Amino acid sequence: MAGSQASFSKDLGVVEESRADQGVTGNSGVAECAAHKDAFLTIGESAAPPPRLDPHSAVFLDVDGTLIEIAARPELVQVPREVPMLIARVSEEREGALALISGRPLAELDRLFQPWRGAAAGLHGVERRRADGTLHCVHESAAKAALDRIRPKLATLARSDSRLIFEDKGGTVALHYRAAPEREAEIRACAEALQRDAATQLRLIVGKMVVEFQPLHVNKGLAIAAFLGEPPFLGRHPVFVGDDTTDEDGFAEIRRRGGVGVRVGPPRATAATHSLPSVAAVLAWLG
Ligand SMILES: [Mg+2]
Repeated sequence: MAGSQASFSKDLGVVEESRADQGVTGNSGVAECAAHKDAFLTIGESAAPPPRLDPHSAVFLDVDGTLIEIAARPELVQVPREVPMLIARVSEEREGALALISGRPLAELDRLFQPWRGAAAGLHGVERRRADGTLHCVHESAAKAALDRIRPKLATLARSDSRLIFEDKGGTVALHYRAAPEREAEIRACAEALQRDAATQLRLIVGKMVVEFQPLHVNKGLAIAAFLGEPPFLGRHPVFVGDDTTDEDGFAEIRRRGGVGVRVGPPRATAATHSLPSVAAVLAWLG
């Protein structure tokens, strides 16, 4: 597939996960991303990243599916003891220029990676803790009102089936259906209908067995760009490692800056420049 290309399609703020890595046939392998309608995704750029992580780099890391294995439920993930130690060391070697970039809230990242507590963006960038420990949060009343309208509808859907998990993160809301994969089409159709009524405030992320609504004006690429405008990230060569749909915004930002974007998992449409096959390979590479 090397060299083949797929472009982002125009859509109502729906970001599509092809989920080729889940063994599920995607929609012709085309990933869609409203934030980058002008960008091109390439398929098959599966070259391994440079063997050594550049000591002068700024390192940005997604969490689930990148640093830790995905679990059946978000709260069931296991963080091996060596992972917080590893990120602390990689961060220290770069004067603190390492940030976790996750869809989880900051409080959860701190619980999972304790005692490490460095720079991080939570909720895809709604919450951002700078390397100096100061906090920056994006508040937008129209997006908040749209989330308030969607929240009870997703919660009601989740109550209809004990296998569905409604996750209210405050700044974003999600519905997980990993335990009910046969309901995927129905859940995605429902989420897309909700999205149509909130297209100017929210975007819908269709991830790995999850649909998630987040404010339109935040994404992982913007979070990475914000960090790169501040010390100790400023002037460093950016590296971003991620595995899922929401990471494509980050890969696009990294690509614009000539950095190293590493996608974790089998080949699929991506803006990443490199790939690694698994969480274990990421940990080995960082180490
Ligand atoms: Mg991930």
